[in-house]
Amino acid sequence: MNWAMICALLLIFSVTGADVWTLYSHLQAADATQHAMVVLDRTRELLARLDDAETGQRGYLLTGDATYLQPFDFAKPDVQELINELKTLTADDAAQRPRLDALEAMVIRKFAELDRTIAMRREQGSEAAAAVVRENYGRNIMAQIRTLIATMEADEKGRIAERNAELKLSSGHAMQAAVLGDLAALSLLLGAGLVTRREMRARARADAKLRELVQQLTRSNRDLEQFAYVASHDLQEPLRMVANYCQLLQQRYKDRLGSDANDFIGFAVDGARRMQTLINDLLAFSRIGTNSRKLGTIDANACLGAAVKNLDAAIAASKALITHDRLPAVVADETEIIQVFQNLIGNSIKFRRETPPLIHVSAQPDGADWRFGVRDNGIGIAPEYRDQIFAIFRRLHPPDEYPGTGIGLAICKKIVERYGGRIWIESVVGAGSTFYFTLPQHPSSVL
Ligand code: ADP
Repeated sequence: MNWAMICALLLIFSVTGADVWTLYSHLQAADATQHAMVVLDRTRELLARLDDAETGQRGYLLTGDATYLQPFDFAKPDVQELINELKTLTADDAAQRPRLDALEAMVIRKFAELDRTIAMRREQGSEAAAAVVRENYGRNIMAQIRTLIATMEADEKGRIAERNAELKLSSGHAMQAAVLGDLAALSLLLGAGLVTRREMRARARADAKLRELVQQLTRSNRDLEQFAYVASHDLQEPLRMVANYCQLLQQRYKDRLGSDANDFIGFAVDGARRMQTLINDLLAFSRIGTNSRKLGTIDANACLGAAVKNLDAAIAASKALITHDRLPAVVADETEIIQVFQNLIGNSIKFRRETPPLIHVSAQPDGADWRFGVRDNGIGIAPEYRDQIFAIFRRLHPPDEYPGTGIGLAICKKIVERYGGRIWIESVVGAGSTFYFTLPQHPSSVL
């Protein structure tokens, strides 16, 4: 993900956040408007109930007919209930609450006036009651009540209008922000898409190039192996001839050619023998790639047993003690695994100290592999040589000190790597080494 994509995502998040906030404000405003509408409705209802009560009183005062008092009787509890409801609705409204208290006081006075005139009509007749009405006391209270209710209504209407105006403004801003933000995010995403596509194409080109290089390398490796195989194979015969004739020369003319010639012939025989050994080793090494493997599920314990048997003489001569864990079964060519064990254990015996070699072979699961270890108490290897020793004909000691051509570990590496495994060494100079190599646990991983 590149920077443009990150910016685009941040923008989209911000725009969405702003939209959510606007929506939340709208919901809150809708709640407040709904609240104001309810207050408006209840105040109108209150005024209507008071009108009913006053109409009932007028009818009774004029006619003395008690049925006119029915709306009056109903209105009284209704009005009280509406006042209580309005009190709850305006509980935290600093502007409306004092008005409502004043309204309640006026309503009490209005009902007291209505009660008084009704009682007067009942007890002293219509004239006495009409005289009280004419004082306009009741009419004045009603006028005050109407004014107060009108003020309350105007306040609520004003709030609704104010909220609507604010909402309109904030909606406009939110819309602008959303459109601009989304446009910017879209452009960034488009840009990011183009960049990503370009990067992907470049990567695909690089991958293809790498594949081609790997193919070339594999081809040239194969050619080299083939060459090494053919060369070592074809060189064997002439080399055998050179060695044989040098030996013949040595045997037949030993006493006739003088000591210098004898020495020279000796060097030639020696050289030819060494070259034969090298050529044989090279041939063994190149055969690993050319021979077809006989893959099967093999018991590593049996392979180790076979390797130990092959090393019988060296083990007896050095008094080596070889122990091992219970080793797993693996899918491999038996001969190759015997060869790996044989080369590693053979080296542990060869590169021993004065004390008899103690060699332990272990195996542990390591991810999808088995990790085998061959540990010894030999001379050890300095860190700087630990990679080099796996190269072909690479040795750290002259042949008269420790015999060998330097092919053993190269063969181990080639075998192990053909199974997709690795080989490496951990060592302490003067204390011993452990050679590790891995082989896949699952047969499907073995090609
Ligand atoms: P060679 O045994 O013929 O010398 P290898 O390829 O088997 O060839 O080993 C290469 C070099 O690695 C050896 O010459 C030796 O210096 C070093 N080496 C191998 N195994 C051991 C070991 N167990 N302890 C110490 N050094 C070792």
